[in-house]
Amino acid sequence: MPIRRPHSVRLVLVLGAVVLACLCGAAAAPSIETDGLEGANAGAWEVSADGVLRFSPRSDTHAPGEWRWYHFRLNGAQGVETTLEIPNARKSSASAAWPFNRPVVSSDDGRTWRRVSDTRYADGAFRFTFVPGSDRELVAMVYPYEFARHLRLMEEIADDPAVAKIDVLAQTIEGRPLHRVVIRSPRASGELPVLWVIARQHPGESPGSWKAEALVRWLLSDDPGARELIAAVEFHVVPFMNPDGVVAGNYRRNATGRNLNREWENPDPATEPTVHAVQRAMREHRDAGRTLLAFFDLHAFSTLRKNFCYYNEDPDLDLDHFEACESFLRNFESINPDFSYSGSDASSPEVGNIAKNWVHLEFRIPAYTFESSYQDVAYGPNAGEPMTIERYQALGRDLGRAIRRTYLRDGQLVRPALWDEPAVSQ
Ligand SMILES: [Zn+2]
Repeated sequence: MPIRRPHSVRLVLVLGAVVLACLCGAAAAPSIETDGLEGANAGAWEVSADGVLRFSPRSDTHAPGEWRWYHFRLNGAQGVETTLEIPNARKSSASAAWPFNRPVVSSDDGRTWRRVSDTRYADGAFRFTFVPGSDRELVAMVYPYEFARHLRLMEEIADDPAVAKIDVLAQTIEGRPLHRVVIRSPRASGELPVLWVIARQHPGESPGSWKAEALVRWLLSDDPGARELIAAVEFHVVPFMNPDGVVAGNYRRNATGRNLNREWENPDPATEPTVHAVQRAMREHRDAGRTLLAFFDLHAFSTLRKNFCYYNEDPDLDLDHFEACESFLRNFESINPDFSYSGSDASSPEVGNIAKNWVHLEFRIPAYTFESSYQDVAYGPNAGEPMTIERYQALGRDLGRAIRRTYLRDGQLVRPALWDEPAVSQ
């Protein structure tokens, strides 16, 4: 039974607490919490004498010095203007980006995220100030996309087996599944050409996941263009290449400290099982005589203010290959002005350690790394406007639309033309 105290005793206790609070400088200091939060990373933190909450994200698993991602709960600061700082930001990965690329987001419910606009970088420290909407405010480098959300998406898709089939290509180091989603129309007959999409090799690059989910949802939607596309092309999507790294709150590495997008030349199933598994599955397609149409690897980028693709320019390329790349990139920009054709960047692959290079050298098909800015873009109708989840989703959906415009005419697969000027509506 609870102990009942007389009113007079309770009043004395309350007054005592108020006096104590006044003597100690009033309200409790804000604090950082990471317990129970997937992908959390705040590292060591303290509240300094000037009231600034300083935190230093820890390095990725087995990768000292590789850090930039942060995600945590800021407790006890609802309605109070609060300043946080990463004092050693100049020592982070992609440190050259801090002067102009300073994304911070916050949320009081984990669903709706707001950009923190008051950010600055000076003397090697990154500082931001905002007023939390709750006493348990979530703070992150960019809109988190957690493995738990991916698992919910897989459950949702599994309800529609006529269109999408899910299998597990491998287990990660820590025993998580590497899912592949195969999407093709139930109306399609016979063998279709295959198009591969992978995402989230780099854990901190959550925009890649927002794009991948939007692409999958569009392909499965009632949109007539999507229905036409999956009747002609079979999509193989691996949305979450590095679940261990995401759950650990890493920025670039997996559970063995590997940067997956530098391990495609000779991946070891013991240390990079997900890369190894995707390569095996793609080779199975080739060995079975199936046509591989293209490959996309979805990422985000710290130091550039654009949404664009890296792709391959190779003197040995045939004209069809070159025209397919050019056509796709121009189509994408014409559909979504957040994407930059002129900002896309061709190189000649000599080594295959990066996914798009390995795919190009192994299969000689168009292969792209599709990057997105964390911050904003420097061109077009949205110039200077911070990127939102909705804009990442639109880029994912419009990746599908650009593929359709590049490869289909009247529902039939065609050889991509160099550049079909879209009809101008008057
Ligand atoms: Zn990346």
